[in-house]
Amino acid sequence: MITASPHARLLPSAPDWRELWRDAITDVRELLQVVGLGDRADLLPRGDADFALRVPRGFVARMRRNDPSDPLLLQVLPQTAEHDRVAGFTVDAVGDMAARETQGLLHKYEGRALLIASGSCAINCRYCFRRHFPYGEEMAAAGQWRRALDHLREDTSISELILSGGDPLALATPKLEELTRGLAEVPHVTRLRIHTRLPVVLPERIDTPFIAWLAALPLQKVVVLHANHANEMDAGVDVACARLREAGCTVLNQSVLLRRVNDSVDALTALSERLFAAGVLPYYLHQLDRVHGVAHFEVDDARAMALVDGLRARLPGYLVPRLVREVSGEMSKRPL
Ligand SMILES: *Cc1c(COP(=O)(O)O)cnc(C)c1O
Ligand code: SF4
Repeated sequence: MITASPHARLLPSAPDWRELWRDAITDVRELLQVVGLGDRADLLPRGDADFALRVPRGFVARMRRNDPSDPLLLQVLPQTAEHDRVAGFTVDAVGDMAARETQGLLHKYEGRALLIASGSCAINCRYCFRRHFPYGEEMAAAGQWRRALDHLREDTSISELILSGGDPLALATPKLEELTRGLAEVPHVTRLRIHTRLPVVLPERIDTPFIAWLAALPLQKVVVLHANHANEMDAGVDVACARLREAGCTVLNQSVLLRRVNDSVDALTALSERLFAAGVLPYYLHQLDRVHGVAHFEVDDARAMALVDGLRARLPGYLVPRLVREVSGEMSKRPL
């Protein structure tokens, strides 16, 4: 286990992000112990988990002690309810996940292509569709970039490349450099967007070599973070966000609406305000992808819309995220 004061984490002497990645907690008993719930045998999930626990220690440090309802703990702790079979929740909710896995590049929306750059994540979020798709370690790195770049070069309607996953920042910075060197041959792609949870769950990833790569890119850059609750944000995350902005990125956030985690006007208001304090604008609030094992997180559409109305009554318009659902075959995310 690595012990360092929260502020030491971003100093030059801080451990390398890969070391922190490997040091993540993967054992349910250890996690409960660390958050002061070691004596709560009732919190141990029954049945075989089909999706491993994984959570970086720095993220665990932001959880409240002795609180089984902590909104960060609930996002990562395996629960017995994941085994419930619920009508309408399937393995392939968005319909194209098999395609995502084999093709690497998804071109569903006008002007934007999405590359599954990596299948790995530093954290395993229980509500994620990824629980059913144990991708290979380095999808795009496995020779697929050539094909993806060929497609980009041939289709001049594409102006934005989105790196997604998994988490694309799981790739080492030299790998990212390799990818963007290839993009230099595709002049009609003028924007690079990165969808990543790493600046939130492992802000040490936003290190000096990474920022040097990002700052030097001759593209417009957008980073879309993923935080669901204000408590996920701390001083280390603030530093990571500031570095991203200094490197010339527009920084946005997407959240998933999750029962017991952020399904209140208070929690969503606090999240928007905390993001803005870090220089980040809320972008999307997603309704859950209806995959098997996540039904206990679902908030119905009527309540979701009422929550967003509540936000609109309390916040400036630019701090109200767009409530959307991904629907297979549509031209964009569907606004609710
Ligand atoms: C969500 C998504 C995008 C990005 O959509 P925006 O509305 O531009 O954020 C692009 N491609 C795919 C396949 C997506 O799922
Ligand atoms: S893809 Fe995003 S939401 Fe899913 S497990 Fe990885 S970090 Fe979590």
